[in-house]
Amino acid sequence: MKILIKANYILTMNEKDEVIEDGAVIVENGKISKISKISDIENENVDYIIDDRPNILLPGFINTHTHIAMVGFRGFADDKDLMDWLNNYIWPAENRAVDREFIRIASLLAICEMIRTGTTTYNDMYFFEEITAEISREIGIRAFLGEGLIDFPTPSFKNPEEGLKIVKSFIENYLNDEYIHPTLCLHAPYSCSKDLILRGYEIAKKYNIPIHMHVAETKSEIEIIKNKYGLTPVRYLNSIGVLNHKFISAHSVYLDDEEIEIYKNHNVSVAHNPQSNMKLSSGIAPIVKMLRKNINVGLATDGTASNNNLDMIDEMRSCSLIHKVHLFDPKVVSAKEVLKMATIYGAKVLGIDNLVGSIEINKKADLITISLNSFHLMPIYDPYSAIVYSANGLDVSSVLINGRILMEKKELTFIDFEEVKYNAQKLKEKVIGSL
Ligand SMILES: [Zn+2]
Repeated sequence: MKILIKANYILTMNEKDEVIEDGAVIVENGKISKISKISDIENENVDYIIDDRPNILLPGFINTHTHIAMVGFRGFADDKDLMDWLNNYIWPAENRAVDREFIRIASLLAICEMIRTGTTTYNDMYFFEEITAEISREIGIRAFLGEGLIDFPTPSFKNPEEGLKIVKSFIENYLNDEYIHPTLCLHAPYSCSKDLILRGYEIAKKYNIPIHMHVAETKSEIEIIKNKYGLTPVRYLNSIGVLNHKFISAHSVYLDDEEIEIYKNHNVSVAHNPQSNMKLSSGIAPIVKMLRKNINVGLATDGTASNNNLDMIDEMRSCSLIHKVHLFDPKVVSAKEVLKMATIYGAKVLGIDNLVGSIEINKKADLITISLNSFHLMPIYDPYSAIVYSANGLDVSSVLINGRILMEKKELTFIDFEEVKYNAQKLKEKVIGSL
């Protein structure tokens, strides 16, 4: 199918930061085949036209750290310290309520929310990821998925040994999939033994897949790891040789300059979760320093139990604002820079910037439009500013992934809202029923 998309502004997010006014993109066989002015393309023969102007066309958002099925715990335990939140609420509730049915319903709800708000790729760590993979593939959203390895029993495995088996078979099932990219997920340095981390690292190396881990998220983690190994988390991981260009470090809130240098030297990527870090009072990650050193920093929402939504526009705004006030510098993390974090930098974090993350000929057509037809988006002086500082996820109008139209004019094309809503009620029943 040949699709023509018209836009008042195209933010290409390419290396030259090109913006095309009154532009058009042609999508053929899932890829971008033409980018030009509307006036130069008007006579082109196409099968379908998407025209939701007034609008902005840009690459889909890339959420570099999620636990999507945690939508089932959205608002379940707010306003707690991270360790209290994990030990006394989330982990016990997960162990009682999370099963295959929970993951099926929650993954579908979360994917609907992500597509509705413009996310076209996500990087997830959770349980029963084979179910999340099936649903992601069926709908057609790009997903990096890995079963979260951890020392103690989880809803999907009784011990790490069993977890490693699940991980290996998942990797082999999806090694060359168009939509599903297996990852090796280690929960955190404080919840995974050195042996588990090293075994995970070997598997990731063997299959050449990313390692995804929570690192240096809170002050208490720093103390725990220092007491146990005599080193900070980053120095500890470096000392055992697991940091490399495929390592995706979620959070990285507590890093000193030398540790940032370690990340730089090993080409480690960072998934920055400002809202989760704010909500759990974890701290503010030094991403401005990292960005200045050209470390790949992507944006992420984390799970919805600590956010509480998967809206990347909301996340961009928080990200930009928190660093401005923290550094007393309104120039840092500009609208354009944070939009890069949510698109092309995210693609670099996941190692797929040759495929997605910008609007360029031959890249995959993972594209979204933002409707400007709302009071809060008038007038438009600068399209980057409009998206980051004025818009929200519900302003996303059309979404294509791999050239397939998953939303047009704010209507999901693949599922009925009422069906998702009906099933979503069951999540709360499951959680409450398990208490
Ligand atoms: Zn997380």
